[in-house]
Amino acid sequence: MQEVYKNIYLKELALPNNPLRSLNFYIVKGEDRSMIIDTGFNLEETKQEILDVFRELDLKPENTILFLTHLHSDHTGLAAYFQDMGLEIYMSEKDGTLMNNSVAQDNPRWEHIVEFGRLQGLHVDQLEIGDHPGFKFRPSAPIRFTNAVPGEFLSVGEYNFEIVDLKGHTPGIVGLYERDHKILFCGDHILGKITPNITFWGFEYGDILGTYLESLARTYDMDIDHLFSSHRFLVEDHRKRIEELYAHHEHRLDEARDILKRADRTTVRDVARQLQWDIRSRGWDDFPASQKWFAVGEAHSHLEHLRAIGDAEMEEEDGILYYKSV
Ligand SMILES: [Zn+2]
Repeated sequence: MQEVYKNIYLKELALPNNPLRSLNFYIVKGEDRSMIIDTGFNLEETKQEILDVFRELDLKPENTILFLTHLHSDHTGLAAYFQDMGLEIYMSEKDGTLMNNSVAQDNPRWEHIVEFGRLQGLHVDQLEIGDHPGFKFRPSAPIRFTNAVPGEFLSVGEYNFEIVDLKGHTPGIVGLYERDHKILFCGDHILGKITPNITFWGFEYGDILGTYLESLARTYDMDIDHLFSSHRFLVEDHRKRIEELYAHHEHRLDEARDILKRADRTTVRDVARQLQWDIRSRGWDDFPASQKWFAVGEAHSHLEHLRAIGDAEMEEEDGILYYKSV
């Protein structure tokens, strides 16, 4: 554990068998109350590591709040456990509701994901919902949470954090901004080295990549000296990193435009197959099932952005979506 700023500590929690490797777990220590940010996976060893931190920093459950940046299981895995321990939990209404709806195996959310898989053309790969990372690591129990409302403030120790809307990586991801100290806890909104995954969440969430790019633009304008993100190294120059992320998505959009131009019309799955991916495998057929879900979600968010800016059109035939160049 290291003190990364006055009374702000960082402990890396391992994420076994996950390409993200570890979660940056943050603790803000105050006199009257303290705060922990996100929890890591629901694993016994992670729980023990956090309990060690409680002992080391002398944190009391009744005076400690848990702030959840977003619903992903590497951030929320132990939420129910800490709730039972007596911590008050803050989470955005959108992500909290989505998360609580994910508990039941027969919740319509999972049915929708299977339906989307078909619309995206994924039935060809015969994927099962059991291979979907969100389903596999879904929470075991719903939690009660206090709404983390963007624009409201949370004060902990000498810090007065403004809750900020960072939506894009998930529909309701929120961060904490401390204006005087120029600190932003940003969850997975901006990461060093890794490109945050931007996936398709359903048509009701609209052009989510566009939403993400707008959130990046707002973050670009913020005065930040200390960007505390959730994975890997701490980014020193947030503007430089945001420019790299813009360039990444521009390149992706160009790739998708080229793919659409090559055929009359293309399914989301076939766009995903033709995009360049970093993972070491020979081709689409060697992709692990979970990576196919990811890849198709990412391709879809880019195709929907192209549609939103007028560079692509979509049509549905026999329950499958086809995108084409405009
Ligand atoms: Zn995430």
